[in-house]
Amino acid sequence: MAYDPLTAALPTQPRPYPATYWCATAGTPPTDDGPLLHAQDTDIAIIGAGYTGLSCAYHLAKHYRSTVHVLEAHQPGWGCSGRNGSFMRPAIGRLSWTDSVQRFGPELAKAHFTEAHRALATMRELILQGNIDCDIQPDGWLKTAHQPSRISSLLTEQQVMRDHFNYDTQLLHQSELEEYGLGGAEASAALRFPDAFSAHPLKIIFSLVKQARQAGAVVYSKSPVISWHKEGATHYLRTPTGTLRAKHVVIATNGYSTEQLHPCLKSRLMPVLSSIIVTRPLSEDEIHHSGFRTTNIITDTRKVLNFYRRLPDNRILLGSRGAITESHQSQQKIQDHLLATLQRKFSGLENLTVDYGWSGWVALSMDSMPRVHTVDTDRSISYAIGYNGSGTTASVYAGKILAHHLKSNAAISPLLNSPLPAFPFAPFRRLGQRAMFAYYRHLDNKAG
Ligand SMILES: Cc1cc2nc3c(=O)[nH]c(=O)nc-3n(C[C@H](O)[C@H](O)[C@H](O)COP(=O)(O)OP(=O)(O)OC[C@H]3O[C@@H](n4cnc5c(N)ncnc54)[C@H](O)[C@@H]3O)c2cc1C
Repeated sequence: MAYDPLTAALPTQPRPYPATYWCATAGTPPTDDGPLLHAQDTDIAIIGAGYTGLSCAYHLAKHYRSTVHVLEAHQPGWGCSGRNGSFMRPAIGRLSWTDSVQRFGPELAKAHFTEAHRALATMRELILQGNIDCDIQPDGWLKTAHQPSRISSLLTEQQVMRDHFNYDTQLLHQSELEEYGLGGAEASAALRFPDAFSAHPLKIIFSLVKQARQAGAVVYSKSPVISWHKEGATHYLRTPTGTLRAKHVVIATNGYSTEQLHPCLKSRLMPVLSSIIVTRPLSEDEIHHSGFRTTNIITDTRKVLNFYRRLPDNRILLGSRGAITESHQSQQKIQDHLLATLQRKFSGLENLTVDYGWSGWVALSMDSMPRVHTVDTDRSISYAIGYNGSGTTASVYAGKILAHHLKSNAAISPLLNSPLPAFPFAPFRRLGQRAMFAYYRHLDNKAG
């Protein structure tokens, strides 16, 4: 049976890094603290060593000299943080800014926009402080209208950002997009956001492990939490080779959360696969014919959106959702689909082949917003979770604000600080996803 966090038991067998392009190019992983052995005590235990867990550990150890131990089931960054699309955008959750204003009203939407930019700034700050050599491509983000009828939604988005956030983006018409190599049928216009960049996600993880450990945090790999109980004020987190006793536990497992980990997660998340291909490097001829010159990160207006970029070694990375299971057959199908998508978007790439393909589980929440929250029924448990597939910058930010909240009671925006809402009809989430994806594809392909 293919792995599915909705139905999976807690992980027991540590696994190596997946065979991604990022793994092949990140260099040697830094030393970590290996598996947890015997019994250890800590003030704060963090479950999950992705961006959320490592950022929280780093900030706790650096600013508060807290005793903090991170338990990672596999390897640091084994989850989404080491296998994502590498797009660093100002984003908190999945709402467009138009939807944010409609849902929250102008004032809270402005706070939402500010938080998203703080998230991006946090990622920049960590890269700068750690002097992380992570192949940054500093350009902006192009959001392309995949059909002429979608230009109006870009214009609305642009106006909303101007009116409510005093923020300017540039609308590029099809003729101007030629300059970026995006003048094809699937880019009728684009909004260009100046504040975004791309960077090697696993190199960032490797450096975060070093930074967190240098600050005093302990980072255990190959240490899956296989059971969790509490006696008095102490949490007992058991792994196959040891037990961690903690006063406070932070859950940082996002799309890899299994419902058995703790009741506070029950029915709260919808893990969904996101998939990526990386092609072989383009020849000079292919770059010329396809016109794919830009190193801006690119997304489109599809509801099942495509994201793509040219990598520093002239390969193309393209990703999207769509696969429901991690079975071999379904993974092959999504990779074929992603390659066909790329070849439809750009001419002259008919002979392109795929060198790497992989998937990872992102976590959708019921209302498309993440949460950074301390559980109401047990104030010694917190979670930072539910980034809705836009979590590279949001997760490092969530880890940081949670650290400051736990140690100096710093306020967390009410947009983030509430319990994750439960999904109605939770046992039917997978079924609902199939129906939702079919409907979204219908909307995406509808002309006019
Ligand atoms: C293919 C793909 C492309 C993406 N592209 C982008 C992008 O371009 N831009 C963007 O903003 N976002 C993107 N995302 C999403 C982004 O990567 C995530 O939102 C973010 O990395 C979440 O970080 P995290 O630390 O919360 O979770 P993760 O990095 O997933 O880490 C969770 C960790 O918890 C561990 N764990 C789970 N259970 C246990 C247990 N019982 N015991 C111990 N450890 C456990 C897992 O092994 C895992 O390493 C993408 C995701 C995927 C999969």
